[in-house]
Amino acid sequence: MTLSVDTGRVPVLPDNGRQAWRAVRATLTLDDYVKGVLSGDRMRLARAISLVESSNPEHQKLAQDLLIGITPATGKAHRIGITGVPGVGKSTFIESFGNLLIEKGHRVAVLAVDPSSSRSGGSILGDKTRMETLANNPHAYIRPSPSSGRLGGVTRTTRETMLVMEAAGYDVILVETVGAGQNETVVADMTDFFLVLMLPGAGDELQGIKKGILELADLIAVNKCEGDNEQKAEVARQHYANALHILTPSSPNWQPPVLKISGLSNIGLPELWERVEAHHKIFQESGELEAIRKGQRIKWMWNLIEDKLMDAVRSNPDVKSHLPEIRRQVEQGEITVPLAGLKLLQMFGLAVALEG
Ligand code: GDP
Repeated sequence: MTLSVDTGRVPVLPDNGRQAWRAVRATLTLDDYVKGVLSGDRMRLARAISLVESSNPEHQKLAQDLLIGITPATGKAHRIGITGVPGVGKSTFIESFGNLLIEKGHRVAVLAVDPSSSRSGGSILGDKTRMETLANNPHAYIRPSPSSGRLGGVTRTTRETMLVMEAAGYDVILVETVGAGQNETVVADMTDFFLVLMLPGAGDELQGIKKGILELADLIAVNKCEGDNEQKAEVARQHYANALHILTPSSPNWQPPVLKISGLSNIGLPELWERVEAHHKIFQESGELEAIRKGQRIKWMWNLIEDKLMDAVRSNPDVKSHLPEIRRQVEQGEITVPLAGLKLLQMFGLAVALEG
């Protein structure tokens, strides 16, 4: 193909340069990716994360090789999950907390698990415009949730992205999610420390929150505690402390604290970090941190198998062609549900007995 030259600076191709861009993008080798990530080169890091997020099988193969290459440099970060209802102040908190950690000499990466973002037409979480000063800080890296809508896909890429960021030298990884659906469990399953942000005021919030979230929490922070809210925040703090007290803690070595903070006014953030560090130290010394991470890796493996199997079943041509009729039979009650499920699995090629 011949290049025509426009201004003497930019080569212009018939397709507006898309092919040239592809050619440039295709030039990174595995070695380039690995060295780029390990040296903390932001451009290569962004490319590596895009590679990890790509659903193209060739990219996925390269991404796996990349992950193998960087594995020795992973695992050293504090992995912190953060959840709370929309409006509780997650992004304001992350901005202030992130800047505080950077002042302390840390490098901070922010990721988001938000499978609904593709449906709502844009990423709600991990949005750079919500955390402007942090986004512009050279010691921070903010990556919005990938737009692939399924929770399984988002989980896979978020976990892998986390490893890439650790290898690039980010020693605090904040994984943000909204308190909806299974998101919190998914984030708790990929982090060492799970932080739940709550609003001041008690009673209503206690009624409204899911019990499960208290069981996941390593720390509850009642946010927006400044000024007139101080009293209400204290009431909420006591309620949550009582609620946590009647739960059996997930570790005998850690009773989740309840703190009052203000992301906006920078209140309580150094104390919160002290607790995170204390937790890390205790769990490292007791061996729980390693045990938790091992358990998470095994769970991740099974989740991946489930996801891939479901994709394979749903896209199998035999399953697809018989599905409408089997669905109809199930809806009409002409066939039992277990038999329908087993029939579809047989069509997929699984040697399952029809008797169950
Ligand atoms: P998110 O949806 O959880 O990310 O919440 P945002 O960080 O976007 O905050 C939602 C609203 O609460 C915004 O208007 C913030 O200015 C406000 N906000 C956040 N943190 C605080 C805080 O510590 N105190 C007060 N008074 N307002 C806050």
